[in-house]
Amino acid sequence: MADPLDELRDSLTGDVLVEGDREYERARLCFNLLIDRRPAAIARCVDANDVAAGLAFGQDRGLEIAVRGGGHNPAGHCAVDNGLVIDLSRMRDVQVDPDNQVAVSQGGATWLDFDAATQAHGLVTPGGVVGSTGVTGLTVGGGIGHLTAQYGLTCDNLLAAELVSPAGEIVRADEDQDPELLWGLRGGGGNFGVVAQAEFRLHPLERVVGGRLEYDGEGVAEALRLFRELAIDGPRELSIQAQLATDVSLAPQLAVVPCFTGVGEDPELLQPLRTVPGLVKDSVRRQGFLEQQRIFDPGYGVDRNYWKGHFVAELPDSLIDDLIACMTALGRPPGGILIESLHGAPKDVDPASAALGYRDAAFNISAMASWTEPAHDEESIAWARETAAAIEPWSVSGGYANYMQADEPIDRVRAAFGPDSFARLQALKSRYDPNNVLRRNQNIPPGG
Ligand SMILES: Cc1cc2nc3c(=O)[nH]c(=O)nc-3n(C[C@H](O)[C@H](O)[C@H](O)COP(=O)(O)OP(=O)(O)OC[C@H]3O[C@@H](n4cnc5c(N)ncnc54)[C@H](O)[C@@H]3O)c2cc1C
Repeated sequence: MADPLDELRDSLTGDVLVEGDREYERARLCFNLLIDRRPAAIARCVDANDVAAGLAFGQDRGLEIAVRGGGHNPAGHCAVDNGLVIDLSRMRDVQVDPDNQVAVSQGGATWLDFDAATQAHGLVTPGGVVGSTGVTGLTVGGGIGHLTAQYGLTCDNLLAAELVSPAGEIVRADEDQDPELLWGLRGGGGNFGVVAQAEFRLHPLERVVGGRLEYDGEGVAEALRLFRELAIDGPRELSIQAQLATDVSLAPQLAVVPCFTGVGEDPELLQPLRTVPGLVKDSVRRQGFLEQQRIFDPGYGVDRNYWKGHFVAELPDSLIDDLIACMTALGRPPGGILIESLHGAPKDVDPASAALGYRDAAFNISAMASWTEPAHDEESIAWARETAAAIEPWSVSGGYANYMQADEPIDRVRAAFGPDSFARLQALKSRYDPNNVLRRNQNIPPGG
């Protein structure tokens, strides 16, 4: 009897992986080991026509469809049990037009691909801080990283996209053709179709002053307060993040990660951070942007993860104390708490240009539980939820869609955009995906 998947194989220029194929296990693996799913088939597409063929096959056969870019979404949206994965990992080409300072990136490119291509011309766009993360997946959720203060959110630099709708149409979204779709892709996630290629604005930049300042014990609270002042009052030439952790004895640890692109090798504004007692490591120096992009370099598919957080308007001393206390609450190292600053360029952009709703926040604070033992699932998940509950009184939105788990209630997704933008996104969803074929994401149900 003919294999029903032969029809899919015949319709693709790319290939199809099924259980038993040598590359299947690697291809189904999510960054987050908490998610362990076995798709019926993984369609490794090579172009927009392949994506359209995959979408058509999945719908004809009643298969649930997942879209895989870099595989990083902590909710594991890139994999689906017994369904079809539209896998973009063979679509990673990045073309750079240095004269016009524009890059065109295929839908499965990672930041490693993107940065390598753009840095060859001394250009950047503000992206994610971990190289294996998908460029498009990150962009359609917003995009916060080492150059946010300088150049805005990643989606603020998205100029155009070519999208394959679930109906198989290939459409272009830019300021002239379907600006509403471009607006929706700036934060509204993978709800409207599969982006086959995306076009980004580039900026000249090769070297930065960056690295890590690491603190132990008593110095952690003071360093975190200084981080806060720098983030609130600092210039737009300085993007800055902070990450709380603990050592095995549960003593708090803090890494402050600046990325300065102004004039000078040793910016004076970082000096106060260097005088805090408890500074145990200072690797901040002038370095290439590609080195800065390797500061956070977690292994892919090695930890179990559960993340939950809030955008906040302020980081008061009492919240700093609560966050440090949360780090010891589990009785073993729980993972970390990431604090990302949103000062600078994101505030300059017209809020009406993008669907996302957290531009006004001062910080994004995320409890990121990570562990290896399945026996620790329940208590690690509880730790992330309880830590997020400690942040919630300062919350100004429903949280960052890019870091959301699959169990977030729709109210949190709606709050991430605000009611008006959410209704507008629902109308856009009805136009492009009325049957909610693409629902393995931070889902915006059709409506409006
Ligand atoms: C280790 C790590 C580091 C991270 N660092 C950052 C960071 O610095 N800044 C930040 O803002 N976020 C960061 N994130 C979050 C990340 O941006 C999101 O999880 C994002 O969804 C990952 O995209 P992906 O393609 O890698 O993931 P996948 O799991 O492959 O895809 C997730 C979803 O994105 C959508 N999607 C992906 N590609 C396409 C496409 N071509 N067309 C349409 N939809 C698509 C689909 O809905 C898909 O289900 C990080 C996540 C991890 C795990």
